[in-house]
Amino acid sequence: MNNLFLRKIEYLFFPKTDRETNVKIDTANIVTIHYVCLSVFFIQSVTLIVYSIMNMNNIYDYDVMVGFASVGFSIIYCVVGYILTGYLRRKPLFIAIHHKMINILGGLFFTILIAWGMFVSEKHFARGEQIITFYIVELCVLMFVKLRPLVSATLIVGSYIIYFFVLNSVHPGKINPYNFAILGLFCAVSTVLNYRNAVNSIQHENRIEVMNKSFMVIAEHDVMTRLKNRYSLNQIIPEYLNNSVCLALGDIDKFKVINDTLGHNKGDEALKYAADKLVDVFGKEKVYRYGGDEFLVVCVDEDFDKFNKMIDLFNEKLAECEFIQGFHCTFGSVCRVPASPVDFSKMITDADAELYEKKGKYRKDIVVK
Ligand code: GH3
Ligand code: MG
Repeated sequence: MNNLFLRKIEYLFFPKTDRETNVKIDTANIVTIHYVCLSVFFIQSVTLIVYSIMNMNNIYDYDVMVGFASVGFSIIYCVVGYILTGYLRRKPLFIAIHHKMINILGGLFFTILIAWGMFVSEKHFARGEQIITFYIVELCVLMFVKLRPLVSATLIVGSYIIYFFVLNSVHPGKINPYNFAILGLFCAVSTVLNYRNAVNSIQHENRIEVMNKSFMVIAEHDVMTRLKNRYSLNQIIPEYLNNSVCLALGDIDKFKVINDTLGHNKGDEALKYAADKLVDVFGKEKVYRYGGDEFLVVCVDEDFDKFNKMIDLFNEKLAECEFIQGFHCTFGSVCRVPASPVDFSKMITDADAELYEKKGKYRKDIVVK
């Protein structure tokens, strides 16, 4: 029970967040504050105009000047906030590195805003008006930003306590402590839950992203050889169009003999061996497992002679295999500019035709060890 309670406290007040989650929350906060600053700037500018018109005749009154100062302060504050967040929005690397600093900045931003809210509200209160500005600022913290729970709860509870004592000492007995306590508690709980919900939904998003990525890897690769598969080839064909493409289709000679004499597992090992050597020579982006013992290699803007020499090099590496003597893969290769998917598939057909022809002439016999 005790343990459960502590876990709940930890879950709510000390949520474990990874870097990606922090970056997403920070970015969202910066964007939100940016637009809140812009909106408040417009609202307060209109307020300033209306206020000026209303107080044209008594502009030098102390109260009126305080009013001008407070509206003016909020306008300047919003301009600074808008410029600063605009600058930060263009610095994703800074956001990624300085999570703590951004939280401190956010806390500071709202501490000053809350202090301003208290000051303005106290003036309203003194004149018998409501303390609405204070509540608006508190709502801003609650609704628009997601600060770490301890920071936001401290900000809210602290500001309610301070403001209560300030009002109570200046205007004794005029503030109902219960209303104040309930509102403060409500705001604090809401900010904590707000942050927790944001973390939950971002972590959920991240999990789905990771799953999608791994599904894509599974869908585009052959599980055994880890080479890209035909589905992946179909996805990438548009990138090859209008380029000079060298393409080679290869089929291992007498592969059935390996399976029949050494067993299927050893056959798999031989396929993996061949796949690794292909990757060594061409790089993993250019090699596909096309079928059972068939491989496809596609290179863009490659010299055809060099391409064929690389195929020879691959076969030299195959021949070094310790458990298959004469391990060899016959290739048919073509090079041209495919202008459409049809041209690309014609290249494969032509390479296949050449492969078939070469098989008849040069297929090597295998001796398994
Ligand atoms: P050829 O020189 O004419 O290519 O003769 P071959 O024996 O290699 O004949 P073919 O290419 O037609 O046969 C390929 C064989 O590869 C057939 C199939 O049993 C085997 N094979 C296909 N996929 C796998 C696999 O994933 N693992 C293993 N061990 N064998 C496979
Ligand atoms: Mg074969």
